[in-house]
Amino acid sequence: MPQKHFGILETEALMNSPADTSHEIATGLSVQEAQACILDRITPLETEETGLAQALGRALAEEVLANRDLPPCDVSAMDGYAARAADLDSAPITLQIVEDIKAGDTPRFSLQPGQCARIMTGAPLPSGADTVVRVEDTRLLENDRVEFLVPAKPATDIRLRAENMRKGDIVLRAGEEITPAAVGVLATVKRAKIKVTRKPRVAILSNGDELEALNEPLDPRKIPDSNSYALMAQVQALGIEPVLLGIACDKPDELAGFLERGLEHDVLLISGGTSVGDHDHVRPTLTTLGVTMHFWRVEMRPGHPMAFGTTKHAFVFCLPGNPVSSMVCFEQFVLPALRRLMGHRRLFRRTIPVRLAQAVKSRQNRVEFVRATLSRDASGAYMATPAASQSSGDILSMTRADALIVAPSGRNDLATGEIAQAQLLETAIWQHTPDTEKYC
Ligand code: AMP
Ligand code: MG
Repeated sequence: MPQKHFGILETEALMNSPADTSHEIATGLSVQEAQACILDRITPLETEETGLAQALGRALAEEVLANRDLPPCDVSAMDGYAARAADLDSAPITLQIVEDIKAGDTPRFSLQPGQCARIMTGAPLPSGADTVVRVEDTRLLENDRVEFLVPAKPATDIRLRAENMRKGDIVLRAGEEITPAAVGVLATVKRAKIKVTRKPRVAILSNGDELEALNEPLDPRKIPDSNSYALMAQVQALGIEPVLLGIACDKPDELAGFLERGLEHDVLLISGGTSVGDHDHVRPTLTTLGVTMHFWRVEMRPGHPMAFGTTKHAFVFCLPGNPVSSMVCFEQFVLPALRRLMGHRRLFRRTIPVRLAQAVKSRQNRVEFVRATLSRDASGAYMATPAASQSSGDILSMTRADALIVAPSGRNDLATGEIAQAQLLETAIWQHTPDTEKYC
């Protein structure tokens, strides 16, 4: 990526690395520049074969073709009677039933004038028939005769051969996400095994002397390690099972051991120790281990001390220690990176326009991601209410947020009633009420 895409270039003294005592690292990038710096370095991983039962959420790595026409012939779209429209241009009229045709049957008769066939949904149309009349529009009489109560037009309630898919047509493209519907399509074309992009192996490390592990007794002086688990869950939500490396304390030697293990994975996520404190050793230790750091500090809030580096084989994300900052940086940077590695084309969380229920402060130099809940106004449009707490240490506030309002940098404050963009979080596709009154 050309240097001009970065913010200010800074020379960083690397105390622990005799071989590499200074290193240029871009700093003060915008979110967009940081995303580009990451994604420009990422291409999808290799492909592998997977079974249909393991395919959900993966990206397809091959084109999938229809292996047959569907429907295989003209079939009935209703339970009713297959007939000749010419016999039914006026009603009521009575026709003779010559056979019963179920789905999967082969019709035995060709319909002659005055004849019809009882037919089930999905059953093949007998030759001579050019229309289907729903059973509700008929009255069954004695001696295999049926009265049609309404006239019929040709080509009614018939599904034409190959109208859903034609043999040889592309039904799914490479890069397409395997959704439940795509799983249905794959089964339709009898693909029990398919080529997908493999999942990245992801390791997660927490850093800080003050951290207390999940299985350690409660110590009032310590901070519980929540980041390992929140990040684990964010990764799991993408269908990837990460490896938790545990907690590295703030000693460079011990930290180096953990980082070395982490660098054996495709992606290493480290939270904490990436800022400018005396005990923040993550970035210099990574450099000692041969990681090229590409940027540090992104002009955003929360999440400013975010850094990114690479080795030949691994991508390293240094996330801020504050629990909300770590999660928000995951959303902006790690999520699109993991999705690209997995072969997906749609990398980013959807944003939608929302009306602000309250004013939102804009900062001069930083884009601000504001936790918010979504509701609907009288017209059904989305409204966003900023959470009372925007503290980057307040993990609880993240559980209540549906979205992050994006307050662009260098703008005036956003006023109540103004339209802003909101980035939807994982839970935002769910709502309490079914909205069924809007269907009528
Ligand atoms: P740092 O980025 O190391 O300066 O940490 C910033 C803040 O985040 C400090 O208050 C840390 O205690 C907190 N913190 C760091 N790592 C974690 C973690 N794994 N879980 C919860 N909080 C953390
Ligand atoms: Mg720390």
